[in-house]
Amino acid sequence: MSTVASYPHVQLFIAGQWRPGRAGETLAVRNPATDAEIGRVAVARKADLDEALAAAAKGFEVWRKTPAIERAKIMREAARLFRERAAAIAPLLTMEQGKPLAEAKAELMAAPDIIEWFAEEARRINGRITPPRAAGQLAQVFKEPVGPVAAFSPWNFPVNQVVRKLSAALATGCSMIVKAPEETPASPAELIRAFADAGVPAGVVNLVFGTPSEISEYLIPHPVIRKVTFTGSTVVGKQLAALAGAHMKRVTMELGGHAPVIVAEDADIAKAVKIAGGSKFRNAGQVCISPTRFLVANSVRDEFVKGLVAVSRGLKVAGGLEEGTSMGPLANPRRVAAMERLTADAVKRGAQVATGGERIGSAGNFFAPTVLVDAPTDSLVFNEEPFGPMAAVRGFDRIEDAIAEANRLPYGLAAYAFTGSLRTAHLLSEGLQTGMLWINQPAAAVPEMPFGGVKDSGYGSEGGPEAVEAYLNTKSVTTACL
Ligand code: NAD
Repeated sequence: MSTVASYPHVQLFIAGQWRPGRAGETLAVRNPATDAEIGRVAVARKADLDEALAAAAKGFEVWRKTPAIERAKIMREAARLFRERAAAIAPLLTMEQGKPLAEAKAELMAAPDIIEWFAEEARRINGRITPPRAAGQLAQVFKEPVGPVAAFSPWNFPVNQVVRKLSAALATGCSMIVKAPEETPASPAELIRAFADAGVPAGVVNLVFGTPSEISEYLIPHPVIRKVTFTGSTVVGKQLAALAGAHMKRVTMELGGHAPVIVAEDADIAKAVKIAGGSKFRNAGQVCISPTRFLVANSVRDEFVKGLVAVSRGLKVAGGLEEGTSMGPLANPRRVAAMERLTADAVKRGAQVATGGERIGSAGNFFAPTVLVDAPTDSLVFNEEPFGPMAAVRGFDRIEDAIAEANRLPYGLAAYAFTGSLRTAHLLSEGLQTGMLWINQPAAAVPEMPFGGVKDSGYGSEGGPEAVEAYLNTKSVTTACL
């Protein structure tokens, strides 16, 4: 590897070997821009999972004893390899997922940055010594890796969603079985390949694909697995968290959101339109932190809607490999059906379709960038995560009303606000029930800042020191030395 020219046949990676599933089964991988089958991905069944579990158990014993400085060195080498290969991997990511090539490159180039940050953290996993209660006593706190981890990652950011989990696990000395998305398997496989080629010992990282429910129901209760990490929908997250709870496994859940965007009347409207409009249609809106519920002060609402519509109409919607494409297709036909359902419901309840609202063409999963105005708060679009290129705008009179509407839903992942007032910014920072808030700027999912939600959006963090802590056990050791 790795100058990838055409879409590969994606295999499993178990105990340091790339190989097919023992039963020889495969699944089709389709290009969402054309519906054409572009490749196949190997399927893991129980026999493969048993091998992966045995490998992860052995790998853990090797990796936990590998000095942190060595782990960091191997991780930095994986980052270097992945950075070197990113340009060749980007077309694969676009072919399997649909996002424009520039976005694919941006996702891939973010990965080495994440790996390097966690590699640095590996060298700072310190325990502590506490003043003892008695002379001659030594009171120590150890930080130890939690053990082999089962990770489940989705198709919207096939590399980014794995690299945060894997980097935190490897930094702390854990091994991992990654169940990556069957719909977008090649780019995460290339990430795993970079780690393998960098010298991560056999069994420390394993990659499987298959039937998601079959794999999670087998791995999560298995005694080898000590932690579960999942990114995906709230519905599935609750099922997996319940299963993990029944078996007393540590859990990180990064689930759905429905991000409010509060535009106050003192905001710089042109800036708000540019930032929020740009973020809205990134990855065709299939982003857990995508801005979705636009709550705009009534005095500036028309101006904001006009700007947002102009941004939407200015986008070039086409295949992601095509020159100049600013928004690609949705990743699968399920999302197109969801967009149609949300639009029809909003219109039925009196909303205006300011732009978009329908699919484009008959081949591929293209849906027009859509702005819905004045959908009532009981419409589906104001309650269900759209996860597509859809912005729903409503006005408000008092900032307190906007905060109440933002907090109305059970979600609490991301929120955005635009205001020229420090007082309003502070009010929103304190009042919004959210895991992340960006004020007067686009989302910045940098590895050094916590990344995660509250309420039904999950728990735990995939960024900052909290993300490292999530893979560590704490052991208290008190010794009478005399
Ligand atoms: P889905 O709930 O069927 O699947 C979401 C992800 O979870 C997929 O990667 C899938 O393979 C995995 N999954 C599903 N059932 C599983 C199980 N029993 N065990 C282990 N993994 C399982 O939904 P979908 O149609 O693929 O995606 C649509 C919804 O998923 C969106 O509306 C959004 O809410 C959510 N989603 C969220 C994110 C995120 O970044 N938080 C990413 C992708 C999808």
